[in-house]
Amino acid sequence: MPVSPRHSGGRLMRFLRSETVVVDFHCRACLGPVTATLRCEGDLRRLTKPPCIPLACPHCGHTNDVTFDARGEVLAVAARRRGEPVWN
Ligand SMILES: [Zn+2]
Repeated sequence: MPVSPRHSGGRLMRFLRSETVVVDFHCRACLGPVTATLRCEGDLRRLTKPPCIPLACPHCGHTNDVTFDARGEVLAVAARRRGEPVWN
């Protein structure tokens, strides 16, 4: 008796590992699209509040403070004010 695979039509689904979050947002300074893949150590579901991570825009270099939830849904993007010291 042949085994019929129960694949649903070869649809490509990308499963992200639970500790990897892909964040998409638009830079507040130049409005350029930014995609960042963040690795989080630990269980994101245990977060009691959304993390806020500073991410530098690859287009203009401006730092945006991005707040997102455990699924990578962007909740808020705030641009750092100019004039703040930048550490390299
Ligand atoms: Zn930018």
